[in-house]
Amino acid sequence: MQTMRFLVIISLMIFSLAMIWLAMISFNKRKISGQSAVFLSLSMISISIYGMGYAMELSSNSLEGILYWVRFEHIGIQMIAPFLFLFTLCHSHNEKWIQNRRYLFFLIIPAINLLFAMTLGKQNMLHANPRFVWFGPFPIFHYEQTIWMKLALVYIYSLLISSAVLIVRMMFGSTPALRKQSILFMIAIFIPFLSGLIYNTGNSPYNLDLTPFSFSLSALLLSYGFLKQNILTIVPLARNIIFNGMRDGMLVLNQEGQIIDLNSQMSQIFPALNRTCIGEYAFRIFEKHPEMKILWEDQQIVDTEIIMIHEGKTEYYQVKKSILRNTNDQPAGFIIKFSLITEVKNLLKKLEEFAETDELTGIKNRMSFLQSAEKEICRIKRYGGCFSLIIFDLDHFKKINDQFGHINGDIVLKKIVAECKKSLRENDLFGRFGGEEFIFLLPKTNTKNGFCMAERIRKSIEALNFSVIEKNLHVTASFGIVNYDNQMSENLEDLLRSADQALYQAKEAGRNCTRIFQQIDTDASERECS
Ligand code: GH3
Ligand code: MG
Ligand code: MG
Repeated sequence: MQTMRFLVIISLMIFSLAMIWLAMISFNKRKISGQSAVFLSLSMISISIYGMGYAMELSSNSLEGILYWVRFEHIGIQMIAPFLFLFTLCHSHNEKWIQNRRYLFFLIIPAINLLFAMTLGKQNMLHANPRFVWFGPFPIFHYEQTIWMKLALVYIYSLLISSAVLIVRMMFGSTPALRKQSILFMIAIFIPFLSGLIYNTGNSPYNLDLTPFSFSLSALLLSYGFLKQNILTIVPLARNIIFNGMRDGMLVLNQEGQIIDLNSQMSQIFPALNRTCIGEYAFRIFEKHPEMKILWEDQQIVDTEIIMIHEGKTEYYQVKKSILRNTNDQPAGFIIKFSLITEVKNLLKKLEEFAETDELTGIKNRMSFLQSAEKEICRIKRYGGCFSLIIFDLDHFKKINDQFGHINGDIVLKKIVAECKKSLRENDLFGRFGGEEFIFLLPKTNTKNGFCMAERIRKSIEALNFSVIEKNLHVTASFGIVNYDNQMSENLEDLLRSADQALYQAKEAGRNCTRIFQQIDTDASERECS
């Protein structure tokens, strides 16, 4: 009979040591599995304390010894269910309930019960009338449950039932592989639940408390999942790899605008943001970024662009906010993706520049000039003002090409453009209208000033020397001007026609001169300007 006692004690000891070993393995997985690994490890330590204490209790021969070890056991007993519950909370992705050390809340009642358990042998707050009787080879501890003990048991079973509910919920809506693991979890939670019932209803053999055995058995099952089926590792690992390995910044908010999750890329975009911000309100974290308000104030899907300055470098991000829905299809929060689009933006800018620029001279091409001119006309129609439109065409340019070749012709064109630029103000528009024909739009310039400007440019072209090509080579140009103000009904096409007409008159007048479109007396303006 004593052999039986010896075997039970030894097996309890072995189970307890195995629990410590498993606890260590679980704890070492905390880096990839996070809090769940820590809570599983703590629940295993608690099981181990319970088992070890019970082994010592069964090896005691005096009431004093038994009471001492029962008190010791309670350090484990009170903590197993809370830690298992916290583990399932984390594992079923409900970490938000216990963020910011809120898990301590679940440990308050066990801590009080533990204090009560320590009164065993004196006030006996949990165990009334403690005594022991020999049941075969076993010294079996007997007591009556106080109201506190009953409440403590209700709390423990509530936590175990809640854990089971969480696992069942996790089972639905998960993949077949994860469902298998969830079933394993269910069995692991159910075993101690059942054995506790058997013991507390007085139906266990020799009146032995089977709970330390059953908890050890469930811990073995959990560890099997942990080590073999990777219950703890695969899901968080996959999440870590996908979530943190993304090039995009990812931010998860709940409906109240609190930060629920973020990946490491997010911290690079917003250095003030890291995992310690989880649980904080987004508006506090993004205090310095009022442009981000739409992310938590607007309940709608958002697709926008923001600009950030990183170490003096401008970065563009495309920000997409989508609504996260829970399993009942109810909005539960938002997932926001920050994609770096600086490269694409810069390429687009280059492409736009390329499409707007004349390849040879680097100034606006015809299309781009006309677009800008249309905008200016709209602006003047709305706010008033005027401008001068000047077209000039090089005189006898064909001869230059014929005489010195096309390449030298290009050099002439480039040099003339560079010369013209010297006379322009910041807001003046300058474009190549075609071949050897160029065009200016001079905002806030009346006819007289436009004429003076055209003459100044004409003279500067005339004065240019192209000694690189030929010692005494000089090029001239003919200018046509039209003026526009908000009283006029002409459109851009009409204005271009008029300027062209004036240019034609300049050519007719012998070239190397400026003509103003119609009504105005060109000779009088010429006299005024000189
Ligand atoms: P006019 O005084 O009447 O304007 O005589 P023009 O010879 O300048 O006029 P025409 O229209 O007969 O000739 C224009 C010339 O400009 C013909 C063409 O070879 C030359 N040209 C047009 N585009 C370019 C260019 O990109 N490079 C060079 N080198 N020449 C060009
Ligand atoms: Mg010409
Ligand atoms: Mg021409």
